[in-house]
Amino acid sequence: MVARSTAQCQTDAVAPAAWRAELKTAFTQVDPLLALLGLRRNQFPDLDPTPGPFPLLVPRAFAALMRPGDAQDPLLRQVLPLRCERIAAPECGTDPVGDRAATCTPGLLRKYAGRALLIAHGGCAVHCRYCFRRHFPYAELGAYGPRIATAIAAIRSDTTLHEVILSGGDPLMHSDDALCTLLAQLAAIPHVRRLRLHSRLPVVLPSRLTARLGELLGALHPRPVLVIHANHARELGATAQTGLRALGGRGVTLLNQSVLLRGVNDTADALAQLSERLLDCGVLPYYLHQLDLVQGAAHFAVADRVALDLLAALRTRLPGYLVPRLVREVEGAGYKRPLA
Ligand SMILES: *Cc1c(COP(=O)(O)O)cnc(C)c1O
Ligand code: SF4
Repeated sequence: MVARSTAQCQTDAVAPAAWRAELKTAFTQVDPLLALLGLRRNQFPDLDPTPGPFPLLVPRAFAALMRPGDAQDPLLRQVLPLRCERIAAPECGTDPVGDRAATCTPGLLRKYAGRALLIAHGGCAVHCRYCFRRHFPYAELGAYGPRIATAIAAIRSDTTLHEVILSGGDPLMHSDDALCTLLAQLAAIPHVRRLRLHSRLPVVLPSRLTARLGELLGALHPRPVLVIHANHARELGATAQTGLRALGGRGVTLLNQSVLLRGVNDTADALAQLSERLLDCGVLPYYLHQLDLVQGAAHFAVADRVALDLLAALRTRLPGYLVPRLVREVEGAGYKRPLA
């Protein structure tokens, strides 16, 4: 791969980026979020206003896409902490897809042939209650500071690796300068032929899609793949659409992964509308994940039989390229397993 050298990654910008300032104003408490939506605590009998180590976190841009007055809003359901998250479900664990066993050096996960996943940042702009990494020990196993160099050295020394996936947390939580440096280092490794980013920021904090981000992704050869994470059509607002279309115009391949979530997107209508809305944004559906059984998320689970029926319904309604691959991650399997 070819990239600009890391020396070209430094800008002399002094003011913090607008998206970072916006992130500082994100909701971290239940009451102000409910007040914005014209809702009251007593409309949520199972509400958990103090959920502990995985607190509420919702950027204002995401809250603005929620429907005021709707206690069942599918966007709100994804982020509102409930007491039932504290119930220990026997089928759920804290490391549901074997991330610890797949860690080859802190911050670097290897599960599949030719690909490695870099936990490039431990932070997110939003806290999704169903998150399969909600218990991930980022402090211990994230690729921070000096560990990033160790992880990159490991990638450099393994010539069987052809794709590096920046994940987290969320890799777009890095500044453009830091991201540019990281991408340039990876792109300079001859056997790394593909770079991919997995990020929810284009959806929940679309101001992150800065012109400079477009420039730096558009300067990589070949262009990277950006896999966004949207679960519902209404998550993709006008700002996200403009920003994503601009990235597409620069040759970035845009895909989406969703999680099948009870009460959020477990209807054929919701999934069909999501696929169509993604296409408006220049994004194709990639994976529809069956929920990873993480402690605290059991109430989002959709039965396999229901999931398969939903997929069959989608196939009858949509062109094949708008039907996502319904998969479940199975620890130890060589690929994300299609449900059958
Ligand atoms: C999901 C995942 C990948 C990517 O899998 P694809 O099928 O290529 O999208 C790679 N590494 C890890 C550790 C993963 O969890
Ligand atoms: S953005 Fe992704 S990693 Fe972050 S909380 Fe949501 S699902 Fe988890």
